[in-house]
Formats: sequence, structure tokens, C-alpha cells
Amino acid sequence: MSGSPMTVTVVEDDQSVREMLAAVLGHEGYDVATHATARSALAAASTRTAAVAVVDIGLPDLDGLELCKRLRSGGHTGSILMLTARHTVGDRVGGLDAGADDYLVKPFALDELLARVRALARRHGIGVERIPPGVELGDLVIDVGTRRVTRSGAPIDLTKFEFELLHLLVANAPTVLSRDQLYQRVWGYDQENASNSLEVFISQLRRKLEADGGDRLIHTVRGIGYTARTA
Ligand code: CA
Repeated sequence: MSGSPMTVTVVEDDQSVREMLAAVLGHEGYDVATHATARSALAAASTRTAAVAVVDIGLPDLDGLELCKRLRSGGHTGSILMLTARHTVGDRVGGLDAGADDYLVKPFALDELLARVRALARRHGIGVERIPPGVELGDLVIDVGTRRVTRSGAPIDLTKFEFELLHLLVANAPTVLSRDQLYQRVWGYDQENASNSLEVFISQLRRKLEADGGDRLIHTVRGIGYTARTA
């Protein structure tokens, strides 16, 4: 970190967890703001954007997912790390669809939390990348502004991560991107720390892209990673 410290917001109603996170993050040099309720966090977010918001899914007034959606619709551009005690994949994916950048399942190791926050803060610090308005590959069209994806004109419904993964591969096509590069660019952290979910996202993505019988666009490069190309 350079210049003024990055702001990290912690939204957690459990006082002991909240204070522990504030102490640990403060010790790391972040400027930490804490909130016990979603409404308090929303009020503060209207005047100040944190680089990273750590949001517990279980809050007394609004669900953490709802808070996440409202932060995003209110123009919050910082990263959001969702804390969840729920183990189902549905809730994890739900958190990501609500606009969270990453999630961590409770109970978590503090080192892991700090690694995630660091990665998300770094990504925030890099700023908004220059993004071309649209990317095409064969009959696939990605409209970055509206986040709409079509194949031969037919819309394809993708989750946030599927979209980012596809966009990254297509925007760099035909360059082969390594697993590490994909993890770092899409998730913001190293493969060692990640759950082994890249294959799952790739196969979901392929299934959606090929649902209408279209040719394969995302190819596995054995031992290295993935590339997007036509045939
Ligand atoms: Ca809680």
C-alpha cells in the first residue's frame, strides 16, 4: 500500500467477531470502519466508498445478500467479500450474483481472510481497466457495458463469474491463459488459496455456450490452462 491507507468496512452484528476483524485489519494498516447493521453500512456508503467491504451474510436488519445488492445499485465500486456460515453452493453463487467479488465460509482462518482482503484491495487499487465496449468471437458477442452475451443473436444468461471468465478468455483470444492467471484475474488470488472451482465454472460456461449446438469456443490446453478460439 502507498499513500493514504485503504479503507475497509466491516459489517457484522456479532460484536466479538466485528471487533476482532477491526483489530486484525487495523493492525495490517487498513483504515477500518465497522457497522453492526446493514442500514448503518448503507448510510455510511452514501458518503464514502471503501476499497473492500467485508459483509456478513447474517445481519439483523437486512440479509447480507440484500445489503450487497443495495451497495451495488447505490454505485459502490469497491470490492465486497461476503462472509457466510452457510455451506451450500446455492448461497455462495447467490452471493456472487448479488454483486460480491468473493466469499469466505465461516469459520475461517484469519490469514485466509487477510489474503482475500489484500487481493481485493490490490484489485481495487489498480482501478478501472480500459474496457473495450464489445468483444466478439465467431458468433459470440459480449457487450461489456450491458454485460449481455449472445450467440448468433440468442441471449445467454451468465453469472457474474462466468461472465468475467468468458470475457477474460475472449478478450485475450487466442492467447492461452494459465490457471493461475485466470484465478488471479477473475478471483483476485492465487490458485493455492482457491477452492478447486475453475473446472466447474468452465464446464458450466461451456454447457451454456453450447446449449444450442454451437461449436466449442473454450478449449482446454492440457497442463497449462484455457484459450478461447473458434474451432
Ligand atoms: Ca452475523
